[in-house]
Amino acid sequence: MANIGLFGGTFDPIHLGHLKTVLEVKARFHIATVYLIPASRPPHKTNRAIAPPADRMAMLQLAVQQLDGLEVSQTEINRSGLSYSVETVDEFRHRFGETADLFFILGLDAFVEIHTWKTCRRLFENVAFIVMTRPGSGRRQTPPDHETLQAFLDARISDGYVFDSTTGQFQHPALQPVNLFAVTPVDVSSTGIREKISSRAPFKHLLPESVAAYINQKGLYR
Ligand code: ATP
Repeated sequence: MANIGLFGGTFDPIHLGHLKTVLEVKARFHIATVYLIPASRPPHKTNRAIAPPADRMAMLQLAVQQLDGLEVSQTEINRSGLSYSVETVDEFRHRFGETADLFFILGLDAFVEIHTWKTCRRLFENVAFIVMTRPGSGRRQTPPDHETLQAFLDARISDGYVFDSTTGQFQHPALQPVNLFAVTPVDVSSTGIREKISSRAPFKHLLPESVAAYINQKGLYR
């Protein structure tokens, strides 16, 4: 059974930070297909206006068009209400079966907030994680990423996780493994792009050309 990746996000908009890093993850973990799963309404980002799901979906479709093994899933957009990852994982588990190797992919900045997610414990029972390093989340003067992650797992998830430095994996006797993966840093964020667009600064180099053209055509983020 092939490895399957689940990469959730707001994707408002999708950018090169998402694409370059997830392609590295795909290659390193021999993942056949990574599903990019835009949240309908992310529970933790309710304080600002988010581009309509149809636009975020359209930009994702444009972004993955030429990329083998990346697909866009509309599952969270189709579900009404807030988007909970635990339900998304259940859905993919049902679709691919109990023996499928599912990997939930996210950046370190998002992972260290995971204890606030709905029924987070069940997520750790059901799916392995790949945590990507991200510029800004492992700044100088702060501990190395694996120490940050170990402290977080101990404090918030379970003190049973043990780090294996040869594989970069945190293993647990009862819960799914957490893989820390140092991707090539790409210092790009959707927030930064939205700010650049609204202040009329150059932004096209931060996302695929087709996505930049769509943003201009629709007048998004102005
Ligand atoms: P925003 O700036 O609006 O918060 P974002 O750039 O963080 O958005 P999201 O759609 O929220 O984008 O991110 C989806 C996932 O991708 C998250 O797990 C996030 O940590 C990860 N991610 C986003 N950008 C990068 C990047 N440059 N490097 C590594 N991971 C990233």
